[in-house]
Amino acid sequence: SGGISNISFSFRGNNAVREAMHAAFLYHAIQAGLDMGIVNAGQLAVYEQIPPDLLALVEDVLLNRRADATERLVEFAEKVKGSTKAQTKDDVWRNGPVEERLAHALVKGIVDYIDQDTEEARQKCEKPLEVIEGPLMAGMSIVGDLFGAGKMFLPQVVKSARVMKKAVAYLTPFLEAEKAAAQDTRAQGKVLMATVKGDVHDIGKNIVSVVLACNNYEVIDLGVMVPADKILEAAARLRVNVIGLSGLITPSLDEMVHVAQEMERLQLRLPLLIGGATTSRAHTAVKIAPHYHGPTVHVVDASRAVGVVGSLLSEEQSVEYVRQNAAAQQRLREDFDSRNTNRDLLPLEQARDHRPRFDWANLPVDCPAFTGVRVIGNQSLEELVPYIDWSPFFHTWELRGRFPAIFDDLVVGEQARLLYEDAQKLLQDIVNGKLFQARAAYGFWPANSRGDDVLLFTDETRRQPLATFHFLRQQMRKPNGQFNHCLADYIAPVASGRPDFLGAFVVTAGFGVDELARQFEADHDDYNAIMAKALADRLAEAFAECLHERARRDWGYGLTEKLSKQDMIREAYRGIRPAAGYPACPDHTEKRTLFDLLDAERNAGVRLTENYAMWPGAAVSGLYFAHPEAKYFGVGKLGRDQVLDYQRRKQLSLAEVERWLGPYLNYQPEALAAVVTPS
Ligand code: SAH
Repeated sequence: SGGISNISFSFRGNNAVREAMHAAFLYHAIQAGLDMGIVNAGQLAVYEQIPPDLLALVEDVLLNRRADATERLVEFAEKVKGSTKAQTKDDVWRNGPVEERLAHALVKGIVDYIDQDTEEARQKCEKPLEVIEGPLMAGMSIVGDLFGAGKMFLPQVVKSARVMKKAVAYLTPFLEAEKAAAQDTRAQGKVLMATVKGDVHDIGKNIVSVVLACNNYEVIDLGVMVPADKILEAAARLRVNVIGLSGLITPSLDEMVHVAQEMERLQLRLPLLIGGATTSRAHTAVKIAPHYHGPTVHVVDASRAVGVVGSLLSEEQSVEYVRQNAAAQQRLREDFDSRNTNRDLLPLEQARDHRPRFDWANLPVDCPAFTGVRVIGNQSLEELVPYIDWSPFFHTWELRGRFPAIFDDLVVGEQARLLYEDAQKLLQDIVNGKLFQARAAYGFWPANSRGDDVLLFTDETRRQPLATFHFLRQQMRKPNGQFNHCLADYIAPVASGRPDFLGAFVVTAGFGVDELARQFEADHDDYNAIMAKALADRLAEAFAECLHERARRDWGYGLTEKLSKQDMIREAYRGIRPAAGYPACPDHTEKRTLFDLLDAERNAGVRLTENYAMWPGAAVSGLYFAHPEAKYFGVGKLGRDQVLDYQRRKQLSLAEVERWLGPYLNYQPEALAAVVTPS
């Protein structure tokens, strides 16, 4: 016995061919005595219905009838790609009782029959509410168990939620007629979710919301850029049981501290959940939890949310859970204190002495074809598709692995493929319907470095300063022969007398995204709403890659470049495009300079929030460095000497600079900076 699908493995993704191969193989093999095999019965073509041309080619291969059988099938396969029969649904489950059908639809995420099945269940039940509390909840608890056991993955759970929502939507008019509220009766507890003030990212938060809702919690989602007072007002008014905060950029960490302080001031004791890309167990323990006496829990990813909220709200478990969480956080704080005092940094002057030195006189000068700003008002989405890096897309959905190898992963491969297929469908609609609008502004300027700053000039005479970028330098001790890097090192110093240039860009694919997501949400389809946002992020990153290629050409040195799209996604070209907020230039406030230089708001429609997040969220910005040896690095921890120097260069108060560089300081700042809102 064995897995039949092995014979068609090379045609992964091409179900039309795969299903024909399986059906033809079974047809012949069973006649020849096969009596056991493993096959997806839901995806099997009927032998008699296989198109004759395809069947002939398939049987040529299976029965080894001609020498060129392989080549002929491969060639043909290219043509039938996409005309998949995968959608031939296995309808056997339709024969079961309505309760089982509802459970099946929920577990499999099938919406096709949900109205009719819900109606049938409603007629069977005395009250419409019983449909929810009975079969629908039973189905969702199977989903919850499978997810908890690692047998279902996030994309599937979000699809299940869509089925549940559609069923509830169908029942809502009946519930209203009975004046029964669906939500309150069924909810195990209320969770308020928000992306904090100054931050715009919400994919992770939306996934958590869906997963919680799926597990029978009522979720109130306040959206993005939500100030503390709004969060706390809503929490009180709606009597929620838990508050969940989300954020992506480092300044949001401070904002979360602020929310925790406000909760303390109001003497709340509600559990506070912390999640999002820059959050961590350590930060939650060291910086947030000490400000608040209620439980403060870091939720590392969406798959943990249900367990955490369940434990926090459970009568039996919560006391012990909270005690353990507090004890673990205490250990993390002790750890942090002992490590923090030990970090041994070079004095700034010594770090500067260890900078890499380049032989500027002998490096070729590359002059960009133009200086100043160029605008791309309406970028074709189609052109961006080949530049998409799909690996981060799977990470968004918490499927671990790299594209395309992820499709062969034993655990998540199948789900990855289904997710990818759904993504391709929506992406096609977005591209064909021009549902998103992508815009960009980029440019080049005469530039020279002065210490750790880079000065930009209005023109080639290099007399009139236009703007200054301030960079930070690594201060960690390094073995001999290694350098203490700073991005300014990659630009020829003023004193070298050599002309040099710096580029800058901002791209977005974010217009139209919210509208599309809202349409899906109105149709109770969170799965596609989240998918739309995830694709917008991918398109924005792809745009950054595509524009970088164009910029290298404009700069001249890119004209001879011959890289595959894969190599480009691996950034195998000359030069880098560091982004403010990332490890080589962690200060988000430098985006203000970049945005002013590009007139980004007028030229590309991208704005900065008070905490320097970009709006729309599907946006990328950064600087172009052409130096052949430019590379990404992390500045790491900063000594007080450098922060003082930086503060003078930026002409900001020490307290304010310390606020923005908070996570990178190698010392305890004296006073917490007042919250200063940039103009
Ligand atoms: N292809 C990926 C690209 C994003 S990550 C995607 O689609 O998501 C790589 C980008 O992050 C780089 O191009 C650069 O802009 C930024 N980056 C990575 N490491 C950095 C560092 N150490 N300092 C500054 N920017 C960095």
